[in-house]
Amino acid sequence: MAHPQALASAPDWAAFATACGACTRCGLSTARQQVVISRGHHQARLMLIGEAPGATEDAMGEPFVGRSGQVLDQLLAEAGLDRSRDVYLGNVVKCRPPDNRKPRAAELAACRPWLDQQIAWVDPPLIGLLGATALAGVMGVKSGLTQLRGQWLAGEGPVLGGRLLIPLFHPSYLLRNPSLAEGKPKWLTREDLRGAAARLRQLPASL
Ligand code: SF4
Repeated sequence: MAHPQALASAPDWAAFATACGACTRCGLSTARQQVVISRGHHQARLMLIGEAPGATEDAMGEPFVGRSGQVLDQLLAEAGLDRSRDVYLGNVVKCRPPDNRKPRAAELAACRPWLDQQIAWVDPPLIGLLGATALAGVMGVKSGLTQLRGQWLAGEGPVLGGRLLIPLFHPSYLLRNPSLAEGKPKWLTREDLRGAAARLRQLPASL
């Protein structure tokens, strides 16, 4: 599968999984157990993008299936979103960084074509960026997650243009800050997801 020529082609998720699953474009390929591609619905209208697989995801082959994934699933459910039907989940890098370190710029760049292909094929009008690494990796915004969190930003360029993106706290941060008291990070994230659910309900069915 080539890139970016494949962007506008009809989705072929089986070919994508085969090609991406064999990827050695960056050094993260050497220590992974498997490439962690996605979870959720290929035609979801909300895509959530996180940082990188952790140990559980590396072992199971799906993003957000560890403890932070359980936090995310809980908040999605409380926002009225079905994790299997309403969202498509992925990460800015698809292989686990050693010791769960942050992905490096070269690794983000190497993995970006896969993510761009996923965005183009899922074609979500709304994208949630989970954490500072996702915000930097997808939009190139390298600081200000706390200030930007909860704001809808207009995407630009051939892949993000026409979409709205919202920076959100990463679920692993919410694991360390579990209070649901009003104004706390977990409460704010639930409100953000409720806002996303409300926007989804307002979208024309064709989007
Ligand atoms: S992180 Fe992305 S670019 Fe690097 S080897 Fe894995 S799939 Fe390929």
